Amino acid sequence: MATQRILIIGLGGLGVPALWALARAGARRLTLVDPDPVELSNLARQMIYRPADIGTPKVEAAARWLAERFPDVDVETHAIALEASNAARLVSAHDFVIDATDSPAAKFLINDTCIAARTPFVYGGVVGMTGQAMTVIPGETACIRCVFETPPDEDEIQSCREAGIVGPVAGAIGEMQAAEAMCASRAQTPLLSGKILTYDASGPARVRIAAVSPRPGCGCGAWRTERRESHSPGK
Ligand SMILES: [Zn+2]
Repeated sequence: MATQRILIIGLGGLGVPALWALARAGARRLTLVDPDPVELSNLARQMIYRPADIGTPKVEAAARWLAERFPDVDVETHAIALEASNAARLVSAHDFVIDATDSPAAKFLINDTCIAARTPFVYGGVVGMTGQAMTVIPGETACIRCVFETPPDEDEIQSCREAGIVGPVAGAIGEMQAAEAMCASRAQTPLLSGKILTYDASGPARVRIAAVSPRPGCGCGAWRTERRESHSPGK
């Protein structure tokens, strides 16, 4: 259904390819959240931004790009950072969320807020030449805390920042996130529900998809559903 409203949080290496793919695929109600302005260093990889956009909030530059290329997209913009004080209000107004952030704290906040609001979302992350994506259906499939339990410590975060992100890998993961959102908006089960995709481009490119089980005791509660199903008579 093109009437579903999709929230994209982060308009950088993941969010820009996700936005472009969604617009091409027919998504017509999009909300964009990012606190940052366009910088010179964004122009090479984040292809929707132009030199004239430098200094403009990314959400505004992206909305202008959409208005030129896809004038029938209904776009809402918020030039703010996702925080505990605004996350519930933003998430609950949407049918699906794309986590295109680059901070572990934001990823855990998106996870917890989507679980509470029962809003499905797709996680995306890129470090160096490796990218990952996973879709979470709250209460049904494993969440980010089932996989990672707690955010990484500051040393680990710093090493991720130093490793940077590689454009083509981020592009592939962002497009995959858009495909997951389109599946959900057509009431189809997203490919990566309860599965984590890893794209490792460091050698001969490898793509791996692994099933992820809910972690017993995780606050998302998906393990209860799985346990009940596995003990159901006749299964
Ligand atoms: Zn969980």
